[in-house]
This record gives sequence, C-alpha cells and structure tokens, in this order.
Amino acid sequence: MNSISALGTDDALAAPRPLLEVRGISCNYGLERAVFDLSLTVHRGEQVCLLGPSGCGKTTVLRAIAGFHSVLTGGIFINDLQVSAPGAMVPPEARRVGMVFQDHALFPHLSVRQNVASGLRSLSAGEQKTAVDDMLDRMDISRHAEKYPHELSGGQQQRVALARALAPKPLLLLMDEPFSNLDQELREHMGQEVSDLLKENDITCVMVTHDQNDAFALGDHVGVMADGAIVQWDTPYNLYHQPRTHFVADFIGNGIFLPGDVSGSARVATALGELESDEALDRPVESPIEVLLRPDDVVHDPEGPIRATVRRRAFKGAEIMYTLRTTQGITLLALFPSHANYEIGDEVSVRLAVDHLVVFDRDPED
Ligand code: ATP
Repeated sequence: MNSISALGTDDALAAPRPLLEVRGISCNYGLERAVFDLSLTVHRGEQVCLLGPSGCGKTTVLRAIAGFHSVLTGGIFINDLQVSAPGAMVPPEARRVGMVFQDHALFPHLSVRQNVASGLRSLSAGEQKTAVDDMLDRMDISRHAEKYPHELSGGQQQRVALARALAPKPLLLLMDEPFSNLDQELREHMGQEVSDLLKENDITCVMVTHDQNDAFALGDHVGVMADGAIVQWDTPYNLYHQPRTHFVADFIGNGIFLPGDVSGSARVATALGELESDEALDRPVESPIEVLLRPDDVVHDPEGPIRATVRRRAFKGAEIMYTLRTTQGITLLALFPSHANYEIGDEVSVRLAVDHLVVFDRDPED
C-alpha cells in the first residue's frame, strides 16, 4: 500500500476547520461490504458519536479513521490532509489520533505513570515527566500515579486510558465503546464527566457506541448507523423528537407507533381520536400512516378521554414508566410523575399531548 506524506506537522494545527472529514468511504472485509459511501464532518472541539446496533459498521469506520482499515472508495482528511484514499493510507502512528478502547487496554505490568508515559517515548525524560504530571492532574488521578491497573476501580482505569491517549496531544480522540465495561451507575456518571473533561480541554472526539445514553451524554451530534450507512446525523434532541425514519424512531428512545389515516392537511384519525399537528403532514387525505407516541406524549389526567389498564410498571425514581392497555386494545407507554403511583391491573385515564406529529407511511394491511 502507498503512503500519503506531509501529515501532522505543527503548522497543520493552524489549518481551517473541519478537523475531520470522511468523504464517501466504503470498507470491505474480503468481499463483504461493511461500510457504504459514508460521509461525516467533525469540527475542532466537537464531540460526535456513531450509534447503531451490533454489526452496523461503527467500529469499522473508527478503525478506518485511525488508519487500521483501508478504504475502497472516498477519502479521509484530518486537518485538511488526506490520510486515507483507495490504495493509499498514512499509518496510524502518523495520524496524531489517540484511541481509547472498550477494555481500556492498559499495560498490567506498568504503573499508572508508566502507562501514561508509554506514548511519549520521543520526549526527553524531563519533558515526559512534565507531560505525564499535567495529564494526571487534568484527569484527577495524580494520587494514583504509582499504582498498577489492578489496584484501580473501573472509573479510575477509564481515566488512565484517557490520560494515556491524550498525553501525546493528538488532534483527534477516538473512543470505541469506552463505557461498556462499567456498571450502569458509573457509566452514566463517567459519560457526563468525560464529556465535561473533553469540552474543558477543547478535545475533538469521535466515539462509537450501541448505547444511546452514552451517545446522548457525549455527542454534540450523533450519527445513527444501520447496515454500513449513516441514516440520520443530528443533535440528540432532534433524533429523539424528529426521527426521520422508522428505524431511527424505533432505535432511539421508547415509544409506540399508533396506526392512523390522514384526515386533513395536519390531522390524523386514530382509534384514540383525532390528532392535530403543528405542521402540514405532506400526505394526501386517507394515506395510511403511523404516529410516533413517546412515553412523555401520554399524560396522566384523571379527566383524560382515554381509559386504560396498567399492564406493567417500572419505577425510575422521579418517574414511573407504565405500559398501559387502552379499552380499544392499544398498548401505550406512559411516563408519569412518581406520585401517580398505580399497581398492575389499576385503571387510569390519560390524554395524548403531541404538538408535532412524527408520522411514517404504513402498509395498509397492517
Ligand atoms: P459491534 O457493536 O458489535 O462492535 P459494529 O457496528 O462496530 O458492531 P463492525 O465491527 O464495524 O460493526 O462490523 C461491521 C460488519 O463487518 C459486520 O457485519 C461484521 O460481521 C463484519 N466484520 C467485522 N470485522 C470483521 C472481520 N475481521 N472479518 C470479517 N468481517 C468482519
């Protein structure tokens, strides 16, 4: 494979945005295509996530950006310099990219200090010490400097892995499922903490995950992937409230799809009554559609027109997630404040509070 020269000089630091551009790349394993014509742009200081189910190609994209996987079409540019092209790639160590892996991949026989220093061999001993002390301090792990990885908690190991990846001052940080080995509580905490840390230090980052909470905690923008392509690149808010495809609506957050038929320019007739949207639906009257109902669209209201029975409940502290079965035989998910405390089998009344209808075409046979 040829190499592409002129990379990663310090002059490049002054280059204009974006920091990372992936333009129409495709990647194969043998004859199997894993990534199809995928493009994305990341600006300096931005944190983005690729989110999708297992096998959709997230890790392959990350490996292509890192320089561990070649591209068959398109190109990858870091700081306006091309690092991957069909038949040519700059080696990983010349890309100025830091990586954090799922299992942290710390060297077990090296102390925290030695782990963090392991990527700094080109520096003098004095420069190494300054750089390592700085990173340990920024990651708030100075007091663990002489410990070994097995003496650290999962969260502390995570910080060491981050410190090691960031110590050589990479242009771009890549993280592959960095929180998946942590328990749920720590995971949420670390997601927020790492996001703050990257923001405070103006670090540009691409993370891949199959967990939407991780993606939402960290991503300014999130690309939802399916079958080797990005199906929606958007803010977490828009992915949740304005998913553009049925797949994204289903993959992101909870909810149900309520069948209906368009009954006016911005109206839908459903078994639970007529719903009105704040925007025209762009479909002829009588089109068969389904309406996305999120649990927060189903409001607890003793005067509400929809009667339902509680089928399941999941206590979430300030809120309770109920699965309800309406008298019309429709299953709804509803998020009630915790004081609306019902048992399985209880009857409740609700109303639908949806201003902006998210609708998808429906097979009339369904
Ligand atoms: P996961 O979340 O499970 O890690 P992913 O979204 O990161 O999945 P990839 O690991 O990028 O997905 O894999 C994309 C596709 O490429 C999958 O169909 C997978 O089976 C295939 N694949 C991945 N690695 C290899 C390999 N070394 N050899 C052959 N096929 C592979």
